[in-house]
Amino acid sequence: MFLNSYKITRILPCLADPEKIRVIAEISDEIHEVFPYLNAILKGCIFNHPALTLTIKKDGKLFTLHAHHITLAKIEDEKEAEEILRWLKGLINETYEKREQIEPNYSMAAELKALDIYRLLPGTSCKKCGELTCLAFAVKLVGRDIEIAKCDPLFSEKYQEKRKVLLELLHAAGYDVPNSEGK
Ligand code: SF4
Repeated sequence: MFLNSYKITRILPCLADPEKIRVIAEISDEIHEVFPYLNAILKGCIFNHPALTLTIKKDGKLFTLHAHHITLAKIEDEKEAEEILRWLKGLINETYEKREQIEPNYSMAAELKALDIYRLLPGTSCKKCGELTCLAFAVKLVGRDIEIAKCDPLFSEKYQEKRKVLLELLHAAGYDVPNSEGK
């Protein structure tokens, strides 16, 4: 087996969300060899070559794989951390086993900035999406906490050009995007 075991060694307050926890787990084996393969099969990873890390975004949570340990952010409790670690271990081992059938991806996904998104939103802060401002919406969108389709005005004819650019930008960065009608 490529990754044999893991052990939670530290539980800290989450930097991104004070109501959640950050969990660090030491792992039994060096895993960085699998990063380009995981980067190829998962959408929206951030692969940092110099630091030898791969960050996976899933359901609004962040999992960062290092060569010798794993960090989980925005976690509810230890039970959830155990479930995620079990899932990651399975994913890592399965991907490593199938690596010869996967074209490795060494590119670092362009990290989207909230301000880049904000500039392409209508900018009216109309609150129809449930957020107080377009900037707040952009911040949530970057963190995958809200979907672009929630910005109803963006899908009107008036914002056709902005919408086209924004959807392309999101798609290129590995986000799921609706079609131009918002479906
Ligand atoms: S619905 Fe769109 S335009 Fe209105 S506040 Fe939200 S992001 Fe801004």
